[in-house]
Amino acid sequence: MNAKNQVNKKMGCVFNVQRYSVHDGPGIRTIIFLKGCPLSCRWCSNPESQYAEPELAFNRNKCIGTSECFRCSTFCAFDAISEAADGKISIDRQKCTKCFRCVAACPSKAMHTFGKMMSAKEVLDSIESESMFYARSGGGITISGGEPLHQIDFVEEIFKEAKRRRIDVTMETCGFADWEKLQRAAGYMKSILFDIKSMDPVKHEEYTGVSNELILQNLQCLREAFPDLQIFVRTPLIPGFNDTEEDIKAILTFIKDMPNVKYELLPYHRMGQQKYEYLDRPYEMIEEKLQDETYSKLQSLVSAKREIH
Ligand code: SF4
Ligand code: SF4
Repeated sequence: MNAKNQVNKKMGCVFNVQRYSVHDGPGIRTIIFLKGCPLSCRWCSNPESQYAEPELAFNRNKCIGTSECFRCSTFCAFDAISEAADGKISIDRQKCTKCFRCVAACPSKAMHTFGKMMSAKEVLDSIESESMFYARSGGGITISGGEPLHQIDFVEEIFKEAKRRRIDVTMETCGFADWEKLQRAAGYMKSILFDIKSMDPVKHEEYTGVSNELILQNLQCLREAFPDLQIFVRTPLIPGFNDTEEDIKAILTFIKDMPNVKYELLPYHRMGQQKYEYLDRPYEMIEEKLQDETYSKLQSLVSAKREIH
């Protein structure tokens, strides 16, 4: 079997491909978002990334209404769709088997899927036309999520195929994975984007569902095992969770003596709100807003304290 055929055998669940990004790794990059994440961050702006399988989404604003349409209900063999009080539809997620027949039947695309199974070759072929920009700008592809390490076999296939095509690869990770998986991925990268959300294990677990111990240990192991790897440590600034000087100083202290590490803050935004509605899930952080003064103050702190090695 040749290398091409081997690539085709491994499939992964991709929910978005974002082109011409300049914020997620060096140069101009294409970001490939994979589904599945071991964390459940309260502020997550990509709720469609949390589960590993394709999901059914419903955009109420696009629905024509049951009096004129209701085709989705006709095609649902599991009695999961009923009429809602506003004349549109309601989905019983307990009954839904994710067969997606209603998606094909819906004339207005109110029903749609988050996530598509793809091979590594399909992913790389779909971004072939951008390759010339990567070479000129020092860019490439960034695998994001969700948590890419959740689909390590698929990620490794993408990385192998990208290397074969001389495309630079990097990854955005929450760091919560077996060291063996992180080690496998790190061997292909010149740089990595690694999130540290908080140094407080109790608070970390309260807001993300897991302790930070494995994440911090993985960062230390990564630094020691791959000294040439450029690590960009990033902290999403979340109001009420980690937006104090004390929180950020603790992270800066942790990475202070690590060579070849850069640090940046990512301001919280509420862009995922509508997608929670599409999935019938509550958005816990809906009222929270990061104050501009807080962000500026913490940015100044980072600039003053952090030495770039
Ligand atoms: S995905 Fe299938 S089971 Fe679920 S609502 Fe649509 S048709 Fe029914
Ligand atoms: S098929 Fe689509 S547009 Fe028609 S009722 Fe169902 S969700 Fe609405």
